[in-house]
Amino acid sequence: MADRLTTTAGAPVPSNDTTKTAGSRGPTLLEDYQLIEKLAHQNRERIPERVVHAKGWGLQGRFTVTQDITRYTCAKLFSEVGKTTDVLSRWSTVAGEQGAADAERDVRGFSLKFYTEEGNWDMVGNNTPIFFVRDAYKFPDFIRTQKRHPKTNLRSPEAMFDFWAAQPESVHQVTILMSDRGIPKNPAHMNGYGSHTYSFYNAEGERFWVKFHFLTQQGHEHYTNAEAEELIGKTRESYQEDLYNMVEAGDFPKWTMHIQVMPELEAERLEFNPFDLTKVWPHGDYPLIEVGELEMNTVPENYFQMVENAAYSPSNKVPGIGYSPDKMLQARVFSYADAHRYRLGTHYEALPANAPHAANVQHYHKDGAMRFFTNDFGNPDAYYEPNQYGGPVADASVEEPPLRLNEDAARYRQVEQDIDYVQPRALYAEVMDQGERDRLHSNMAAAMAPCSESVKERWYAVLGKVHPDYEAGVRACAENPKEAVAIPVTPETPVEAAE
Ligand code: NDP
Repeated sequence: MADRLTTTAGAPVPSNDTTKTAGSRGPTLLEDYQLIEKLAHQNRERIPERVVHAKGWGLQGRFTVTQDITRYTCAKLFSEVGKTTDVLSRWSTVAGEQGAADAERDVRGFSLKFYTEEGNWDMVGNNTPIFFVRDAYKFPDFIRTQKRHPKTNLRSPEAMFDFWAAQPESVHQVTILMSDRGIPKNPAHMNGYGSHTYSFYNAEGERFWVKFHFLTQQGHEHYTNAEAEELIGKTRESYQEDLYNMVEAGDFPKWTMHIQVMPELEAERLEFNPFDLTKVWPHGDYPLIEVGELEMNTVPENYFQMVENAAYSPSNKVPGIGYSPDKMLQARVFSYADAHRYRLGTHYEALPANAPHAANVQHYHKDGAMRFFTNDFGNPDAYYEPNQYGGPVADASVEEPPLRLNEDAARYRQVEQDIDYVQPRALYAEVMDQGERDRLHSNMAAAMAPCSESVKERWYAVLGKVHPDYEAGVRACAENPKEAVAIPVTPETPVEAAE
């Protein structure tokens, strides 16, 4: 006999198919609590979707250290070659809602939760090494331009390019977004980057600035606009299908983790601000150092429990890993955890996706909605700190070393600088070949097509500062759109007010 169906309170249920009525045709009885519970529960089966990164795909797996980096960090997950740590990944698009098609042109989120013995370390990155803006004041406005227009309820290229033209440091990221890498074939075929500058410190208290890179072992593969448009016509779930099929077939996606390392005081001597999220660190100056291998090998048994409930935040770090003065990182440390308090509830860190695997969780944040976990210290009197009853106490030995930077405030001002164009110029003129540049031109011209002339001209001026060929190439494509080129993001008409 199959297991007995029960109520949520554990009592056996006699029927799961016939409503209780007064007589054989009478109205439904209020005492049919099981029916009421079933309907009421259904109404509560969704939680607020993330404002950004709503559509996501996740896997479980593990990270293995392959190289010794203990001279840079005392983080225990990197303490010896061969050491493994459980990982939960979540990849996502940024702008689309939960039902958005997977193969849309967008930046991809690339988040990893490392369940280390000293608590969780969340590497909350993207598939791009940089971002559109460098100051947190700009972030909510930027996201508004990516979401729906308040009147048309449509995505608005006019708003996107209007904003970008006024924030020219965004041209670096917009170039990547409109390049071949703007539509990865699926998460297995893209890199992940921590993007921000973080820090490491070693057992001697020496601090290093660090960037994280997870390089795909499957190789980069992308869709063109036309290919993606055709695919989306057939399936909106191509990433979920690809990842599920790969892992179920035993074809586990892998990435090689690397770091770039900068000695602490070197940050002051650089021409560019190394804490500016719109800049990379050139590989020639800061070569990639191999650290380990990430293998994602398990489809979670329950998507909602492990992927929708996954709560990533840069605030989750472990001893040996620190922040940096990156203003966007500083803001995300607050805002990501706060998003999860709102979306999942006060005790979101105790949910199965978020609870540490090996670390012992002991804190004084006791009560609140959904306090479903046990967090007692063996003595009911130990419910505040400090106490004389054996409650947990802070461990001064994990204090971070002090920052030694003498910050030059001018480097942190939110103003356009010539240096903002140097790296996009290198990407355009030195990294891309002519075929990539041609596709970049046509992708961007297609994305801008619905915009007003004033916005187009302002954006062309930004492109011209990157490279005259860039401006000329996009202008030429805009004037002679090839019939085969599909409009990538959203083809709606610009809002009237912008004309
Ligand atoms: P390198 O030639 O050493 O590195 C260029 C990098 O560009 C490679 O990592 C490559 O990634 C990546 N790349 C190639 N095509 C694209 C694309 N369409 N979109 C995004 N990245 C791409 O040069 P530098 O380190 O001196 O950097 C030159 C420029 O390359 C930078 O200004 C930046 O725009 C871009 N870049 C730099 C990165 C860095 O961390 N230094 C990382 C990514 C981009 P892969 O090896 O995977 O093919």
